[in-house]
Amino acid sequence: MQTAEVVYLGIGSSQGDRPGNLRRATEMIESLIGKIIRSSEVYETSPWGFESLENFLNMVLIAETFLAPDELLDKIHSIESALGRKRTGNRYSHRVIDIDILFYGNRVIKTDALTVPHPLLHRRKFVLVPLCSIAPEMVHPVKGKTIRALLDECTDEGMVVLFNQNA
Ligand code: ADP
Ligand code: MG
Repeated sequence: MQTAEVVYLGIGSSQGDRPGNLRRATEMIESLIGKIIRSSEVYETSPWGFESLENFLNMVLIAETFLAPDELLDKIHSIESALGRKRTGNRYSHRVIDIDILFYGNRVIKTDALTVPHPLLHRRKFVLVPLCSIAPEMVHPVKGKTIRALLDECTDEGMVVLFNQNA
């Protein structure tokens, strides 16, 4: 029998009902991808890679899945479309929802469609801070360092603060 793989997903939203978008994405991940075993708090973060006054909300989830990496990416794209994401030509831009595969177990994958571990995760505080809150000892399979160590050495100066859902 096939065994489940543990996957780490980073979710972000900067348009529309941002907390609602994260909640809906989480529900769809649970029903289409697999059981969520841990989820971080929601953080408010400044845009990365482009200038804007509108902030993002970001969080990280750990889930168990029976999907292969390419099937997982397909499901992520269907969830993004279902939640109203329109793909623009801009590499970095505002979006209703973005779901990235941070880790797929400790597999290292490099195809045209998919690079895992996510190639920028160690440079982004908006990923490392929530990730470190739920998996500080997880070792990055390419860097050979824990998430805590990667966060310690990360020089990203973007804002990452806990988001008060009730405010
Ligand atoms: P980004 O997340 O970089 O802002 P997109 O969400 O538009 O941009 O993703 C663009 C493409 O990146 C996806 O269609 C997918 O094929 C590819 N991709 C490569 N590696 C990953 C990964 N680890 N997680 C998610 N998408 C990835
Ligand atoms: Mg993405």
